[in-house]
Amino acid sequence: MKDKVIIITGASSGIGEATAKDIAAKGGKVVLGARREDKLRQIAEDIRAAGGEAVYQSLDVTKPEDNDALVALAKETYGRVDAIFLNAGIMPVSNVSALKTSEWKRMVDVNINGVLNGVAAVMPTFTEQKSGHILAVSSVAGLKAYPGTAIYGGTKWFVRDFMECLRMESAMEGTNIRTATLYPAAINTELLDTITDAGAAQGMSDLYDAFGISPERIARVVSFALDMPEDTTINEFTIGPANQPW
Ligand code: NDP
Repeated sequence: MKDKVIIITGASSGIGEATAKDIAAKGGKVVLGARREDKLRQIAEDIRAAGGEAVYQSLDVTKPEDNDALVALAKETYGRVDAIFLNAGIMPVSNVSALKTSEWKRMVDVNINGVLNGVAAVMPTFTEQKSGHILAVSSVAGLKAYPGTAIYGGTKWFVRDFMECLRMESAMEGTNIRTATLYPAAINTELLDTITDAGAAQGMSDLYDAFGISPERIARVVSFALDMPEDTTINEFTIGPANQPW
Protein backbone atom coordinates (compact mmCIF):
# COMPACT_ATOMS: atom_id res chain seq x y z
CA MET A 1 0.00 0.00 0.00
CA LYS A 2 2.80 2.41 0.86
CA ASP A 3 2.97 5.23 -1.70
CA LYS A 4 0.37 3.67 -4.02
CA VAL A 5 -1.79 6.30 -5.71
CA ILE A 6 -5.47 5.43 -5.49
CA ILE A 7 -8.42 7.32 -6.97
CA ILE A 8 -11.71 7.00 -5.08
CA THR A 9 -15.07 8.04 -6.55
CA GLY A 10 -17.92 8.79 -4.18
CA ALA A 11 -15.37 9.69 -1.53
CA SER A 12 -17.49 12.31 0.27
CA SER A 13 -19.34 9.92 2.61
CA GLY A 14 -19.97 6.33 3.61
CA ILE A 15 -17.84 3.59 2.09
CA GLY A 16 -15.74 5.99 0.00
CA GLU A 17 -14.85 8.20 2.97
CA ALA A 18 -14.04 5.23 5.21
CA THR A 19 -11.91 3.67 2.49
CA ALA A 20 -10.02 6.90 1.83
CA LYS A 21 -9.13 7.22 5.51
CA ASP A 22 -8.13 3.56 5.82
CA ILE A 23 -5.89 3.64 2.75
CA ALA A 24 -4.28 6.94 3.77
CA ALA A 25 -3.63 5.62 7.28
CA LYS A 26 -1.76 2.71 5.68
CA GLY A 27 0.45 4.98 3.58
CA GLY A 28 -1.47 5.18 0.31
CA LYS A 29 -1.95 8.51 -1.49
CA VAL A 30 -5.63 9.12 -2.15
CA VAL A 31 -7.27 11.21 -4.85
CA LEU A 32 -10.86 11.92 -3.85
CA GLY A 33 -13.81 12.71 -6.12
CA ALA A 34 -17.52 13.41 -5.51
CA ARG A 35 -19.91 16.31 -6.07
CA ARG A 36 -19.86 17.77 -2.52
CA GLU A 37 -16.54 19.62 -2.41
CA ASP A 38 -17.04 20.86 1.16
CA LYS A 39 -17.20 17.27 2.37
CA LEU A 40 -14.14 16.29 0.35
CA ARG A 41 -12.19 19.27 1.70
CA GLN A 42 -12.92 18.22 5.29
CA ILE A 43 -12.00 14.57 4.63
CA ALA A 44 -8.73 15.58 2.93
CA GLU A 45 -7.94 17.86 5.89
CA ASP A 46 -8.66 15.03 8.35
CA ILE A 47 -6.34 12.73 6.40
CA ARG A 48 -3.53 15.30 6.29
CA ALA A 49 -3.96 16.09 9.99
CA ALA A 50 -3.43 12.39 10.67
CA GLY A 51 -0.20 12.43 8.64
CA GLY A 52 -1.60 11.04 5.38
CA GLU A 53 -1.66 12.36 1.80
CA ALA A 54 -4.83 13.36 -0.03
CA VAL A 55 -6.04 15.65 -2.78
CA TYR A 56 -9.59 16.14 -4.00
CA GLN A 57 -11.59 17.54 -6.87
CA SER A 58 -15.26 17.97 -7.67
CA LEU A 59 -16.46 15.00 -9.73
CA ASP A 60 -19.77 14.08 -11.30
CA VAL A 61 -19.17 10.51 -12.46
CA THR A 62 -21.82 10.88 -15.19
CA LYS A 63 -19.55 13.41 -16.95
CA PRO A 64 -16.64 11.78 -18.79
CA GLU A 65 -14.59 14.99 -18.65
CA ASP A 66 -14.79 15.07 -14.83
CA ASN A 67 -13.42 11.52 -14.64
CA ASP A 68 -10.60 12.43 -17.05
CA ALA A 69 -9.80 15.49 -14.93
CA LEU A 70 -9.55 13.42 -11.74
CA VAL A 71 -7.06 11.05 -13.38
CA ALA A 72 -5.11 14.10 -14.58
CA LEU A 73 -5.08 15.49 -11.02
CA ALA A 74 -3.64 12.21 -9.71
CA LYS A 75 -0.87 12.23 -12.32
CA GLU A 76 -0.05 15.92 -11.87
CA THR A 77 0.08 15.59 -8.08
CA TYR A 78 1.67 12.21 -7.56
CA GLY A 79 3.07 11.29 -10.99
CA ARG A 80 1.14 8.06 -11.44
CA VAL A 81 -2.08 6.12 -10.78
CA ASP A 82 -1.99 2.62 -9.31
CA ALA A 83 -5.66 1.93 -8.62
CA ILE A 84 -9.17 3.31 -8.97
CA PHE A 85 -12.01 2.49 -6.57
CA LEU A 86 -15.29 2.93 -8.48
CA ASN A 87 -17.59 3.46 -5.56
CA ALA A 88 -19.99 6.33 -6.38
CA GLY A 89 -23.59 5.18 -6.48
CA ILE A 90 -27.20 5.93 -5.61
CA MET A 91 -30.08 3.68 -4.51
CA PRO A 92 -33.52 5.29 -4.94
CA VAL A 93 -35.35 1.95 -4.83
CA SER A 94 -39.09 1.43 -5.34
CA ASN A 95 -41.37 -1.12 -6.95
CA VAL A 96 -41.53 -0.98 -10.73
CA SER A 97 -45.26 -0.14 -10.53
CA ALA A 98 -44.38 3.19 -8.87
CA LEU A 99 -42.96 4.20 -12.28
CA LYS A 100 -40.29 6.50 -10.90
CA THR A 101 -38.77 6.59 -14.35
CA SER A 102 -36.46 9.55 -13.79
CA GLU A 103 -34.90 7.69 -10.84
CA TRP A 104 -34.46 4.60 -13.06
CA LYS A 105 -32.54 6.72 -15.56
CA ARG A 106 -30.50 8.39 -12.85
CA MET A 107 -29.44 5.02 -11.39
CA VAL A 108 -28.37 3.81 -14.82
CA ASP A 109 -26.45 7.01 -15.35
CA VAL A 110 -24.60 7.06 -12.02
CA ASN A 111 -24.22 3.34 -11.24
CA ILE A 112 -23.50 2.12 -14.79
CA ASN A 113 -22.27 5.05 -16.87
CA GLY A 114 -20.35 6.37 -13.86
CA VAL A 115 -18.40 3.11 -13.68
CA LEU A 116 -17.81 3.09 -17.44
CA ASN A 117 -16.61 6.71 -17.40
CA GLY A 118 -14.16 5.93 -14.61
CA VAL A 119 -12.78 2.91 -16.42
CA ALA A 120 -12.49 4.82 -19.70
CA ALA A 121 -10.59 7.60 -17.93
CA VAL A 122 -8.00 5.32 -16.36
CA MET A 123 -7.57 2.54 -18.96
CA PRO A 124 -5.11 4.33 -21.26
CA THR A 125 -2.79 4.93 -18.30
CA PHE A 126 -3.08 1.37 -17.00
CA THR A 127 -2.64 -0.13 -20.47
CA GLU A 128 0.47 1.96 -21.14
CA GLN A 129 2.11 1.19 -17.79
CA LYS A 130 1.02 -2.47 -18.00
CA SER A 131 -0.31 -2.42 -14.46
CA GLY A 132 -3.28 -1.12 -12.56
CA HIS A 133 -6.02 -2.20 -10.22
CA ILE A 134 -9.70 -1.49 -10.86
CA LEU A 135 -12.04 -2.07 -7.92
CA ALA A 136 -15.81 -1.57 -8.12
CA VAL A 137 -18.77 -1.76 -5.77
CA SER A 138 -21.63 -3.99 -6.84
CA SER A 139 -24.00 -5.20 -4.09
CA VAL A 140 -25.71 -8.29 -2.76
CA ALA A 141 -28.46 -6.93 -5.04
CA GLY A 142 -26.06 -7.66 -7.90
CA LEU A 143 -26.01 -11.35 -6.99
CA LYS A 144 -29.66 -12.05 -6.24
CA ALA A 145 -32.98 -10.45 -7.15
CA TYR A 146 -34.87 -8.67 -4.37
CA PRO A 147 -38.38 -7.20 -4.89
CA GLY A 148 -38.17 -3.42 -4.90
CA THR A 149 -34.67 -3.31 -6.34
CA ALA A 150 -35.30 -4.19 -9.99
CA ILE A 151 -33.44 -1.24 -11.44
CA TYR A 152 -30.85 -0.70 -8.68
CA GLY A 153 -30.10 -4.41 -8.67
CA GLY A 154 -29.91 -4.38 -12.47
CA THR A 155 -27.22 -1.71 -12.37
CA LYS A 156 -25.28 -3.81 -9.87
CA TRP A 157 -25.68 -7.01 -11.96
CA PHE A 158 -24.18 -4.98 -14.77
CA VAL A 159 -21.17 -4.12 -12.63
CA ARG A 160 -20.59 -7.79 -11.91
CA ASP A 161 -20.74 -8.82 -15.57
CA PHE A 162 -18.61 -5.90 -16.72
CA MET A 163 -15.90 -6.44 -14.12
CA GLU A 164 -15.69 -10.16 -14.85
CA CYS A 165 -15.31 -9.51 -18.61
CA LEU A 166 -12.72 -6.83 -17.91
CA ARG A 167 -10.73 -9.21 -15.72
CA MET A 168 -10.67 -11.92 -18.39
CA GLU A 169 -9.94 -9.54 -21.27
CA SER A 170 -7.06 -7.95 -19.36
CA ALA A 171 -5.60 -11.39 -18.67
CA MET A 172 -5.94 -12.37 -22.33
CA GLU A 173 -4.42 -9.09 -23.52
CA GLY A 174 -1.53 -9.32 -21.06
CA THR A 175 -2.07 -5.81 -19.73
CA ASN A 176 -1.73 -6.93 -16.12
CA ILE A 177 -4.79 -4.91 -15.09
CA ARG A 178 -6.33 -6.54 -12.03
CA THR A 179 -9.93 -6.25 -10.88
CA ALA A 180 -11.85 -6.72 -7.65
CA THR A 181 -15.60 -6.47 -7.17
CA LEU A 182 -17.30 -5.95 -3.82
CA TYR A 183 -20.79 -7.15 -2.92
CA PRO A 184 -21.74 -5.41 0.34
CA ALA A 185 -25.00 -6.15 2.15
CA ALA A 186 -26.45 -3.48 4.48
CA ILE A 187 -23.86 -0.85 5.30
CA ASN A 188 -24.77 2.14 7.48
CA THR A 189 -24.11 5.14 5.23
CA GLU A 190 -26.08 7.97 3.65
CA LEU A 191 -27.29 5.68 0.85
CA LEU A 192 -30.87 5.37 2.12
CA ASP A 193 -31.23 9.18 1.86
CA THR A 194 -31.57 8.70 -1.92
CA ILE A 195 -34.89 6.79 -1.52
CA THR A 196 -38.00 8.90 -2.22
CA ASP A 197 -40.63 6.13 -2.07
CA ALA A 198 -42.03 6.19 1.50
CA GLY A 199 -42.78 2.46 1.69
CA ALA A 200 -39.40 1.45 0.32
CA ALA A 201 -37.64 3.90 2.63
CA GLN A 202 -39.36 2.44 5.71
CA GLY A 203 -38.64 -1.14 4.65
CA MET A 204 -34.97 -0.39 4.03
CA SER A 205 -34.65 1.56 7.25
CA ASP A 206 -36.02 -1.40 9.24
CA LEU A 207 -33.66 -3.76 7.42
CA TYR A 208 -30.61 -1.58 8.09
CA ASP A 209 -31.58 -1.15 11.75
CA ALA A 210 -31.51 -4.94 12.09
CA PHE A 211 -28.55 -5.81 9.87
CA GLY A 212 -26.46 -2.71 9.12
CA ILE A 213 -22.70 -2.75 9.70
CA SER A 214 -20.18 0.07 9.48
CA PRO A 215 -18.49 1.23 6.25
CA GLU A 216 -15.10 0.70 7.91
CA ARG A 217 -15.67 -3.04 7.38
CA ILE A 218 -15.76 -2.48 3.62
CA ALA A 219 -12.73 -0.20 3.78
CA ARG A 220 -10.69 -3.01 5.30
CA VAL A 221 -11.63 -5.32 2.44
CA VAL A 222 -10.61 -2.75 -0.17
CA SER A 223 -7.26 -2.27 1.56
CA PHE A 224 -6.80 -6.03 1.72
CA ALA A 225 -7.40 -6.37 -2.03
CA LEU A 226 -5.06 -3.47 -2.81
CA ASP A 227 -2.35 -4.99 -0.66
CA MET A 228 -2.19 -8.32 -2.51
CA PRO A 229 1.01 -8.97 -4.51
CA GLU A 230 0.90 -7.87 -8.16
CA ASP A 231 0.84 -11.44 -9.46
CA THR A 232 -2.36 -12.20 -7.58
CA THR A 233 -5.98 -11.29 -8.21
CA ILE A 234 -8.80 -11.82 -5.75
CA ASN A 235 -11.96 -11.02 -7.57
CA GLU A 236 -15.11 -11.12 -5.56
CA PHE A 237 -15.98 -10.25 -1.97
CA THR A 238 -19.37 -10.50 -0.32
CA ILE A 239 -19.42 -8.59 2.95
CA GLY A 240 -22.31 -8.48 5.38
CA PRO A 241 -23.28 -8.82 9.00
CA ALA A 242 -22.72 -12.13 10.72
CA ASN A 243 -26.49 -12.40 11.32
CA GLN A 244 -27.37 -11.92 7.64
CA PRO A 245 -30.12 -14.43 6.79
CA TRP A 246 -30.55 -13.77 3.06
P1 NDP B 1 -23.27 7.10 0.40
O1 NDP B 1 -24.56 7.73 -0.04
O2 NDP B 1 -22.78 7.43 1.77
O3 NDP B 1 -22.12 7.42 -0.65
C1 NDP B 1 -22.36 7.53 -2.02
C2 NDP B 1 -21.26 8.36 -2.63
O4 NDP B 1 -21.49 8.45 -4.04
C3 NDP B 1 -21.21 9.77 -2.08
O5 NDP B 1 -19.87 10.11 -1.84
C4 NDP B 1 -21.77 10.60 -3.21
O6 NDP B 1 -21.15 11.88 -3.19
C5 NDP B 1 -21.34 9.80 -4.41
N1 NDP B 1 -22.09 10.12 -5.61
C6 NDP B 1 -23.42 10.00 -5.84
N2 NDP B 1 -23.72 10.44 -7.06
C7 NDP B 1 -22.56 10.86 -7.63
C8 NDP B 1 -22.21 11.43 -8.87
N3 NDP B 1 -23.12 11.67 -9.82
N4 NDP B 1 -20.91 11.73 -9.10
C9 NDP B 1 -19.98 11.51 -8.15
N5 NDP B 1 -20.24 10.97 -6.96
C10 NDP B 1 -21.53 10.66 -6.70
O7 NDP B 1 -23.50 5.54 0.24
P2 NDP B 1 -22.49 4.29 0.28
O8 NDP B 1 -21.19 4.67 0.83
O9 NDP B 1 -23.24 3.21 0.91
O10 NDP B 1 -22.38 3.94 -1.28
C11 NDP B 1 -21.17 3.63 -1.92
C12 NDP B 1 -21.41 2.51 -2.92
O11 NDP B 1 -21.72 1.30 -2.21
C13 NDP B 1 -22.57 2.74 -3.88
O12 NDP B 1 -22.19 2.34 -5.18
C14 NDP B 1 -23.66 1.81 -3.35
O13 NDP B 1 -24.56 1.43 -4.35
C15 NDP B 1 -22.81 0.66 -2.84
N6 NDP B 1 -23.44 -0.21 -1.88
C16 NDP B 1 -23.85 0.26 -0.67
C17 NDP B 1 -24.50 -0.57 0.21
C18 NDP B 1 -25.03 -0.07 1.51
O14 NDP B 1 -25.76 -0.82 2.19
N7 NDP B 1 -24.73 1.14 1.95
C19 NDP B 1 -24.70 -2.00 -0.07
C20 NDP B 1 -24.19 -2.41 -1.36
C21 NDP B 1 -23.59 -1.54 -2.22
P3 NDP B 1 -21.80 13.27 -3.65
O15 NDP B 1 -23.24 13.24 -3.24
O16 NDP B 1 -20.98 14.27 -2.88
O17 NDP B 1 -21.57 13.34 -5.11
